[in-house]
Amino acid sequence: MRDERYNPQQIEEKWAERWQRDPVLYAAEPSSTKPKYYVLEMLPYPSGALHMGHVRNYAIGDALARYMWMNGYNVLHPMGWDSFGLPAENAAISNQTPPREWTLGNIEKMKVQMNRLGFAYDWSREVTTCLPEYYRWNQWFFLKLYERDLAYRKKSKVNWCPQCATVLANEQVVGGCCWRHEDTLVEQRELEQWFLRTTKYADELLRDLDRLPCWPEKVRTMQRNWIGRSEGALVDFRLDYSGGDIITVFTTRVDTIYGATSVQLAPEHPITSELAAADPELRLKVTQLIAEQNKAKESGDIATIEKHGVNTGHFAINPYNAERVPVWVANYILMDYGTGAIMSVPAHDERDFEFAKKYGIEIRQVIIPSESDRNVRSAQADTTQAEPPELPFTTLDGKLINSAEFTGLSCAEAIKKMSGFAERHNFGKATLTFRLKDWGISRQRYWGTPIPMVYCEKDGVVPVPEKDLPVILPENVDITLTGGSPLTHVPEFLNTTCPRCGGPARRETDTMDTFVDSSWYFYRYTDARNDRAPFDSKIASYWFPIDQYIGGVEHAILHLIYSRFWTKFMRDIGLVKNDEPVERLFTQGMIIKGGAKMSKSLGNVVSPDEMVERFGADAARMYSLFATSPDRELDWQDEGVAGIYRFLSKVYRFVARNAPNTYVETQLAASSVRQDETLQATSLRSEARAIQRKLHQTIKRVTDDFQGRWHFNTSIAAIMELMNELLAAEDKVLPASLFAHVQRNLVLLLAPFAPYLAHELWEMLGEKASLLKASWPKFDPELAKEEVIEIPVQVNGKLRSKIIVAPETTKEERKQKAVADQKIQNFIAGKQIVKVIFTGKLVNIVVR
Ligand SMILES: [Zn+2]
Ligand SMILES: [Zn+2]
Repeated sequence: MRDERYNPQQIEEKWAERWQRDPVLYAAEPSSTKPKYYVLEMLPYPSGALHMGHVRNYAIGDALARYMWMNGYNVLHPMGWDSFGLPAENAAISNQTPPREWTLGNIEKMKVQMNRLGFAYDWSREVTTCLPEYYRWNQWFFLKLYERDLAYRKKSKVNWCPQCATVLANEQVVGGCCWRHEDTLVEQRELEQWFLRTTKYADELLRDLDRLPCWPEKVRTMQRNWIGRSEGALVDFRLDYSGGDIITVFTTRVDTIYGATSVQLAPEHPITSELAAADPELRLKVTQLIAEQNKAKESGDIATIEKHGVNTGHFAINPYNAERVPVWVANYILMDYGTGAIMSVPAHDERDFEFAKKYGIEIRQVIIPSESDRNVRSAQADTTQAEPPELPFTTLDGKLINSAEFTGLSCAEAIKKMSGFAERHNFGKATLTFRLKDWGISRQRYWGTPIPMVYCEKDGVVPVPEKDLPVILPENVDITLTGGSPLTHVPEFLNTTCPRCGGPARRETDTMDTFVDSSWYFYRYTDARNDRAPFDSKIASYWFPIDQYIGGVEHAILHLIYSRFWTKFMRDIGLVKNDEPVERLFTQGMIIKGGAKMSKSLGNVVSPDEMVERFGADAARMYSLFATSPDRELDWQDEGVAGIYRFLSKVYRFVARNAPNTYVETQLAASSVRQDETLQATSLRSEARAIQRKLHQTIKRVTDDFQGRWHFNTSIAAIMELMNELLAAEDKVLPASLFAHVQRNLVLLLAPFAPYLAHELWEMLGEKASLLKASWPKFDPELAKEEVIEIPVQVNGKLRSKIIVAPETTKEERKQKAVADQKIQNFIAGKQIVKVIFTGKLVNIVVR
């Protein structure tokens, strides 16, 4: 007798061990006649432990990879480590472990977890971004970008903690103060930094969003907003004393400029600093506004910031009508959008209106709705006032009033004429602006890719020749020292010779933003051991674009814009043929517990290890797919995992009871499975037919979900229903071939969701071929079809309703159903049923 107790630890450890002994098990075929499928989950940061969010992300990708293997695809399913970055440096400071050691140790630990969870990765392609064999290609790309003037240096502001005497990342600025010195306000310092010219591709990045129909609409919208293309005009306002500074404002609505009643500066605008320098009270208020703005930026909702401002007491002159308007500084004006200065037109802009109401600034209407034109004229004829439109009136569908020579023009006409006017009179022009900025990649930190540039006294900035790559990141660097980049404290790194003149030179000590690493890592997977190029173009062309990319929506902007930029650049240097890296994108929902995001401080973190130990990897993975549809937020319930565990136990016991026990039985079952191809629905008794129908309906639901909405929760629920029907039919006499067929398909359907158990049962069924590449079951639409009969129902001989019944229902059941029908109930309510007649074709209810 077989042990009918489900012991996931025993089963899973046995299979995990077998799978790890087979290094080519999940390997993609180098050349294949099969269609290719590249499925990818975003690579993790090696923090040292997987969390449940990872498990959910990988369980989705793994189910899909297994499904595609079973459908005969050549599947590429790799994994790697986004292993440069700040946490390694922080850990190094707090535990005195060198970043490299800490990082590689974490990778080992997380790989053990991934293997224990049974994810089917092709580890021969593993990419670890902090190793020179990978980051040398970051350096190579940097040189290519530099050659094409897509990498350049300019002065830019950085966060600076005067206590640490070092640069802080945005994430290290907490409420305007240093994360390590909570009472120290972070300053802005100007430093020379390296930038990548992402803006060169701004138009294309925007346009091609329309060519990504299989991306979530919300991600495309976020990217559109981030790129933020707007057509508008620049107009120069001058401070109203002789030799006064020029404030160039950017506006998309120059047609409303006669309604401008103030000019507003960003708190970090240079003119703000100038005015504040001479006015201590103003300076104090500006500091507050900066802190408010930084706080809102950090929490990501600058758009909903509570608007505050301060009147500088100065005036600027509107060049169109020579009017003096007050100059304000406001916390909602961003220095890095447009010019960092706006004209405020409260009558025709929501934000300006709100601000003007709050501070009592004049609201002057200069646009009226165009359709109200006739009403206005007839109203004037009556010498009564026209009903003014509700302010702010912000649409472009209007015409100008109170605007001197431009009065009467439509908004669209006025925008054209008025920006032309500004250009002719030399105080402005039409312009195209993007919110997208060039990408600042310099980090004054240790744990990142060294930027391959040197500074020579004679030759200036000189790129490191390609043949000298990689510029190796030195080890044993004391990163606890304060003051500047850690690499400036390493003389053997810092001091070098100039590749051009051979004289003494100094290396760049900044390292690259880690988003550089993740911008192209998925190309490296296609040819991960190449030491002559980042990857072979032909091989990459075979695999790209990625068929399905899966990750968190928090990467909707930065990573997914940078990697699109990188792809376009690689295309332009002839490295790839595709315009876009990712064909289909899926963003899974977050995992929460007890209504809150899992976090150590809340003590509500669920560890994957604990779940595996209590319920097994299959149950933990399957639960993360079952609890809700994968795009939604999942509220973790241990009880739910226990429920999945019980279901898997049920499946295990069922197959253990019914699987053939001997070789002869196995052969018989196998041959009867083959005979099933000829099993005709018509030859089956109704119970058997019901099981067959349920099987084909289940296959259809699971298959449809893989191809469509990915509502794996309903797929798994369907498999559970099938299991229940099988259990109910277990003691009934079903044809052996059908029983074996359904049981075998049950195991196939479970394979993407509970791979360990499915493999164990597959073996138990006597199957010799690999389950990984076994054919996904096909459904027959005819067999899946519900057989139903429609029966008309009359009341006193008049047709009143219809009922739907299964063919096997009895005459009595049909009569009962007819009487119980809701519509019929309305007709017979309060009456007495004399008799119910079933003619064989219809039911007639006689009432009185
Ligand atoms: Zn500090
Ligand atoms: Zn030189």
